[in-house]
Amino acid sequence: MKIYDVIIVGSGPAGMTAAIYAKRANLDVLLLDKLAPGGQIINTYEIQNYPGFSSVNGADLAMQVFEHTQALEIEFDYGTVEKIETEEREDGGCGTIKIVTCAEGKTYRSLAVILATGTKPRMLHVPNELDFAGKSISWCAICDGAKYRDKSVIVIGGGNSAVEESIYLAEMAKKVTVVTMLDLTADPMACDKLKSLPNVEVHEWFDIKEFLPGEVFTGLRAVSSKTGEEIVAHGDGAFEYIGLQPVTEPFAGLGILESHGYIEANERMETAVPGIFGAGDSNSKLLRQIVTACSDGAVAAQSAAAYKKKCMG
Ligand SMILES: Cc1cc2nc3c(=O)[nH]c(=O)nc-3n(C[C@H](O)[C@H](O)[C@H](O)COP(=O)(O)OP(=O)(O)OC[C@H]3O[C@@H](n4cnc5c(N)ncnc54)[C@H](O)[C@@H]3O)c2cc1C
Repeated sequence: MKIYDVIIVGSGPAGMTAAIYAKRANLDVLLLDKLAPGGQIINTYEIQNYPGFSSVNGADLAMQVFEHTQALEIEFDYGTVEKIETEEREDGGCGTIKIVTCAEGKTYRSLAVILATGTKPRMLHVPNELDFAGKSISWCAICDGAKYRDKSVIVIGGGNSAVEESIYLAEMAKKVTVVTMLDLTADPMACDKLKSLPNVEVHEWFDIKEFLPGEVFTGLRAVSSKTGEEIVAHGDGAFEYIGLQPVTEPFAGLGILESHGYIEANERMETAVPGIFGAGDSNSKLLRQIVTACSDGAVAAQSAAAYKKKCMG
């Protein structure tokens, strides 16, 4: 079976950047993703902080980066990686061969692997959430926002994603009610813009107790953590942006995850397993943004090239 120099798991900004750098370092690269290439930015309406673009649609940026990988003739395949194992090299050389197994039944082999599987949104875990999840409760405004044209929506959360997506929803919804457990913690410029919108109402320091029960979604009940005041926020649907968790379950057996499930990697993106590198949002790190994901991907690819040189000469 063919042995790639490097297999990159995840084709978000981190994975695609790693692929570009690895290919330009003359490595034989396979880029794998369970979904269409692009990662989370596919579902981001407007990005305003990626250098060189004062405003760019996330799906457009993803397509441009993917086209860059295709211009370099980087091999891309669909596959949901469910397991990574290591085995000694048959020729007894240094380093191990990584066996990458996908749920769809395909298995690939490589000298190095870069893990760039990102994060997924957290749920609130309050009563009645599961009854409406995926129907009237969504985690993606760009996917489901259009359903709420001239209707009322609730956005839960106060970080950058919550505030940016609230601004997006306010362009089409009749009313956007933002309910957040703390105060608004997003960039001050974005918070100022949100608060200036006439159809937006913000409730800070409210704990959400439940989504209102019933056949049809009508809203939620929340209690102020400061005053004990109870409010009922009404809406035709809700969007949750209360944080993220790493998508790293397939790597749990490798001994490379910290206690919250993020990949522990050093500044060279090396994990505890030689030849396995981590990059992007799935790493334990300070700032999860496109620009830092790209940076991690570039470093991981350089480290993979150095690993190949050390093992193969
Ligand atoms: C709503 C929202 C708005 C945002 N706005 C901005 C912004 O304005 N500016 C900014 O800089 N950042 C923004 N971000 C953050 C930015 O999207 C992330 O930092 C960035 O996408 C991280 O890139 P990544 O490659 O590490 O991971 P991701 O983009 O999450 O990509 C991970 C990829 O791995 C794949 N994958 C996962 N598991 C497997 C598996 N087992 N097998 C195969 N493939 C797998 C996924 O399908 C996905 O394609 C936003 C995020 C959200 C959610």
